[in-house]
Amino acid sequence: MLIDSHCHLVHEKYKESIEEIIKDAKKFGVEKFIIVGTSIEENKKAIEASGKSEKIFCSVGIYPHENIEISLSDLKKSLEENLKSSKRVVAIGETGIEMPLWENGRTLDKQVELLEMHLNLALENKLPVIIHNRNGNEEVYALLKKYSEKGLSGVMHCFTSDWDYAQMILDLGFCISFTNIITYPKKEQLLEVVKNIPMDKFLLETDAPYLPPQSLRGEINYPKYVKIVAEKVAQVKQKTLDEVSECSYQNTCKLFKI
Ligand SMILES: [Zn+2]
Repeated sequence: MLIDSHCHLVHEKYKESIEEIIKDAKKFGVEKFIIVGTSIEENKKAIEASGKSEKIFCSVGIYPHENIEISLSDLKKSLEENLKSSKRVVAIGETGIEMPLWENGRTLDKQVELLEMHLNLALENKLPVIIHNRNGNEEVYALLKKYSEKGLSGVMHCFTSDWDYAQMILDLGFCISFTNIITYPKKEQLLEVVKNIPMDKFLLETDAPYLPPQSLRGEINYPKYVKIVAEKVAQVKQKTLDEVSECSYQNTCKLFKI
């Protein structure tokens, strides 16, 4: 049994319904889904979708470059309203650091501020966080260290860094999540992380509609392809697909208390 711990099923790229996507995923053994919100608008849709099926959970958060015109306090208020409105919200995020800066995006200082707001909110509500990190190793580590000391837990999603950094993150009590990037060529450094990570510390995800497996590059990604991530992890760790599926399923359920 598999769970896609991070997907964006309310994304406009999908022409089919969520029900169809879920039905299709079931054929690949994917039973549960966490729909991750990235903006005020998407958070609302994610909550709505999670209310329709007991297989779907969601998270709410603001991506580093989303809703830039809205003040930090108003963003916080919006997330608090999300939390009040639904019991299906199992995490705060995704949020974090995205470098290099986007045109018309947030400055690094503003991204750090936004990230810290999420970490506080997660602590206050006793929820784990889903961290996005592109080239923000230093900033992300400093904040996660500070907040993990206060009891915060979570996952660094779509991990792409090396084993040294992975160990630092694991030492904070955080989990690491792998996408189909591990099937892409020239990812030796990342595969070392896959190889070394303890079985109780990793999650699997698709980040669909982004990041399709190598065999489907350029196409839209779907939760069913989390099975390909699991197969690659199994191959690298020299475990069976069942062992990897079972462990990642349990790890995800434990982290998100589902
Ligand atoms: Zn994502």
